[in-house]
Amino acid sequence: PTTFEYTWDTPAYKGKTSFPTGLYIDGKWVDGGDKSTLDVINPTNGKILTTISEATPADVDVAVKVAQKAFDTTWGLNASGATRAKLLNRLGNLMEEHIDELAALEALDNGKTFSWAKNADLAGSIGCIRYYAGWADKITGQVIETDENKLSYTRHEPMGVVGQIIPWNFPLMMMSWKIGPALATGNTIVLKPSEFTPLTALRMASLIHEAGFPPGVVNILVGLGSTVGAAMAEHMDIEKLAFTGSTLVGRKIMEAAAKTNLKNVTLELGGKSPNIIFDDADLDQAVNWASHGIFWNHGQACCAGSRIFVQASIYDEFLKRFTEKTRSLKVGDPFDEDSYQGPQVSKLQYDRIMGYIDSGRQEGATVHFGGERHGEEGYFIKPTIFTDTKPDMRIVKEEIFGPVGVVIKFDDEDDVIRQANDTVYGLAAAVFTQDINRAIGTAHKLKAGTAWINCVNQLHPNVPFGGFKQSGIGRELGEYALHNYTSVKSVHVNLGHKMK
Ligand code: NAD
Repeated sequence: PTTFEYTWDTPAYKGKTSFPTGLYIDGKWVDGGDKSTLDVINPTNGKILTTISEATPADVDVAVKVAQKAFDTTWGLNASGATRAKLLNRLGNLMEEHIDELAALEALDNGKTFSWAKNADLAGSIGCIRYYAGWADKITGQVIETDENKLSYTRHEPMGVVGQIIPWNFPLMMMSWKIGPALATGNTIVLKPSEFTPLTALRMASLIHEAGFPPGVVNILVGLGSTVGAAMAEHMDIEKLAFTGSTLVGRKIMEAAAKTNLKNVTLELGGKSPNIIFDDADLDQAVNWASHGIFWNHGQACCAGSRIFVQASIYDEFLKRFTEKTRSLKVGDPFDEDSYQGPQVSKLQYDRIMGYIDSGRQEGATVHFGGERHGEEGYFIKPTIFTDTKPDMRIVKEEIFGPVGVVIKFDDEDDVIRQANDTVYGLAAAVFTQDINRAIGTAHKLKAGTAWINCVNQLHPNVPFGGFKQSGIGRELGEYALHNYTSVKSVHVNLGHKMK
């Protein structure tokens, strides 16, 4: 396998990196079974950054076998919670030592700005690994009282080999959310990063190696969803599959699980999250948060507040201030210190988003701001605001996954709750008001896995995250995520009950 080497000499970061880019299987870097390769594209200029090994379904078989062996020998019930905690803490420390390099790689590969990568993605990733390190020696079952002749208790046992498939929008953070709880509870892993953003996962392979995880505990295979991802979903010896990505692919994964070994499936899928601004909100704060809600990470956030509902009496004033705020967001190179928004991740996503912008125009909505590309090269799109929308327009109903928000007027609480809940998704929702009853009352009525009051996009390793309705199944983060990776075993011990 090749080595990726890169030197940055930019306003935001000066430094270098060098790491192997092969598949990481059984503690070694190897080429894919048929020696095929994948090009990694720099979204800032559309040019090839590097070419890396591509996995095949046969490599998935090899990785599952070594992961099974590790589970049965060095990991699983053979590694104490304290050992698992120690290794996870070492990994967290190594990530912190390399925080700038990892943030720079994420910015290079994904297009997000270096400063956001460092302060959000890396901070969240390191925090998550450390949080689950803390859980590793605190996985306990229950002693259940039955009768005096019997002792009954439960054990929360690791499941075995788990498959993890992650997307390109927060590559390292999604990897951390997945590997943290899976390793803390004693599972072994076959992980597939997105083929669009494999670099931080491959750099992590070196750090996982250096931390001292036994060979085969974590295996990382870069490959296409339709080949490697599908092979994982169908695999008879993967006990559990955790997926983050589109609702379309989530459906395929459940179907594959149903048709094969009925593996456990957790899904973190898309969203079309409402952001509700009542007339008594602190307007400047509501504007700033609403902007962060839809334009952070270039709108490539599953919980993006893409439908902004504003009460009629403040609609004009909100729109004026929101437009000014949007105008102030600097689109540019991710390594310029004053850039807020970099390029979209890929040509595919760029084309999809521009397609949605066209559909909005064709269906009669008004492009109030933006609506066009930025610059001459790379996949940059100006932050875009639509107004004059109708509920059945595609830009109102479908997830765009880009810097495109719709601003919609509403009359009263009942009206906005009805409109906000009128979606197949239910990932997140936000409400802005100074009235505590209205704030909490609305938060409780919104059908979403996360409700933010006077803020948006707040995530914390301790607090669960996941979707209602078609936004997903299961919860990541917090104590809740441990349940995704353990099977409950009930043990009954006879203390003297005689059978005749
Ligand atoms: P995607 O579903 O196309 O891809 C996600 C992953 O699945 C990639 O690794 C891909 O290679 C793999 N994949 C593709 N086809 C597959 C198949 N047939 N079988 C198995 N794996 C397959 O999604 P994307 O375009 O990479 O990411 C964007 C989507 O992810 C958005 O819809 C977004 O809302 C969602 N997302 C959700 C969350 C969340 O936490 N809920 C977080 C991030 C992204």
